[in-house]
Amino acid sequence: MEKERQIETKCVQEGYEPENSAPRVLPLYQSTTYKYNTCEQLADVFDLKENGFMYSRLGNPTCSALEKKVASLEGCTSALSFSSGLAAISMSVMNVCKAGDNIVSLSEIYGGTYNLFNVTLKKYGIETRFINSKSSKKDIEKLIDGNTKMIFAETIANPSMAVVNFDMLSEIASEHKILFAVDNTLATPILVRPKEFGANIVIHSSSKYLDGHASSIGGIVAECGNFVYSKERYPEFNEPDESYHGIVYCRDFKDCAFTVKLRAQMLRDFGCCMSPFNAYLTNMGIETLHLRMLRHSENALKVAEFLKKHEKIEWVKYPGLKDDAEHKIASKYFKNGFSGMVVFGIKGGRKAALEFMNNLKLMAVVTHIADVRSCCLHPATTTHRQLSDSDLKACGVSDNLIRLSVGIENVEDIIKDIAAALDKA
Ligand SMILES: *Cc1c(COP(=O)(O)O)cnc(C)c1O
Repeated sequence: MEKERQIETKCVQEGYEPENSAPRVLPLYQSTTYKYNTCEQLADVFDLKENGFMYSRLGNPTCSALEKKVASLEGCTSALSFSSGLAAISMSVMNVCKAGDNIVSLSEIYGGTYNLFNVTLKKYGIETRFINSKSSKKDIEKLIDGNTKMIFAETIANPSMAVVNFDMLSEIASEHKILFAVDNTLATPILVRPKEFGANIVIHSSSKYLDGHASSIGGIVAECGNFVYSKERYPEFNEPDESYHGIVYCRDFKDCAFTVKLRAQMLRDFGCCMSPFNAYLTNMGIETLHLRMLRHSENALKVAEFLKKHEKIEWVKYPGLKDDAEHKIASKYFKNGFSGMVVFGIKGGRKAALEFMNNLKLMAVVTHIADVRSCCLHPATTTHRQLSDSDLKACGVSDNLIRLSVGIENVEDIIKDIAAALDKA
């Protein structure tokens, strides 16, 4: 058998194989519908007997190429694209949970995800039992019961920078036969591939590094194909789906059961599909992901080292720093670098934080991270504004916390900009 291609090659080429004389570049299929020669052929596609596209809410060739590429980068069997990262997370939870079920999640997660779990899903009867990066195996196991359907974590939390203990969570998940889902947005498969550390589902906000240019909102769910859905905990995967002529996801789709159910039920009924244009741009972004992640990581380390020595800085968190609290655990899982996010606390609290940010010239103050341009945010007054003080604490956000997303500009220019703004703060 041909040796599998390396990840850099996959970033550039995977997902689209042009036929003779077809366009070399993945085409943008900006079409809602697809033509079939006979009614019977179309009916077979509707019954999931034939692979094919019927309507772009449920699948589109440009989106499909992107899905194949991300599945391959993550070492997964299949993937599905969504209109946003939060749509991808919501649908993944709802793919396994109904009212009365629960999930166990790290509390140190993206603010939007925390709100989804803590407030919105609760209204629909899906409970989240929060743990934190200090919780022991015993603490976590106490929260698990017969209705626990998922354990959720982020590879590296935004913005607390906690690195997930894959070994412990995957051990708990596999002992209790619970699905382990990991949001790998900030690490990307270039730095960490969660499947190698026991994850069953890998989720991305492709709005971040995958797109990489801050042009397209999107989300992707990839299935590792390494999970056995027990009949007791996951009856919906093992019993006929009456809304789909009695197909049985595990029996009929094996290591793609999660993805097929996600498409057939969640995308069909909730409709939060990725637009083909966003898939086209995201695919193009991924063509340089392997180069960008190295430079983001290299620049971020230099910025973190600079901040560490600066007198106006109270503390710095970056898992690449040798004396960082997360360095040891991060070194176990990360390859090629520690990504582009640096978080620090400035002396002088909220006031100094805002002064510093208002004096930046190169770094823009934006509600975004993980694109080529360096940018900066004060979570307590923006993304995490709706959270109470105790919720802020649970997410690991303090009043003087500033989040930098270090871009791929020349690092000396980035540091010069930070130094000048610190002088004025
Ligand atoms: C941005 C982000 C999300 C949400 O993604 P959207 O595409 O903005 O919906 C989820 N998880 C992480 C880690 C993120 O950074």
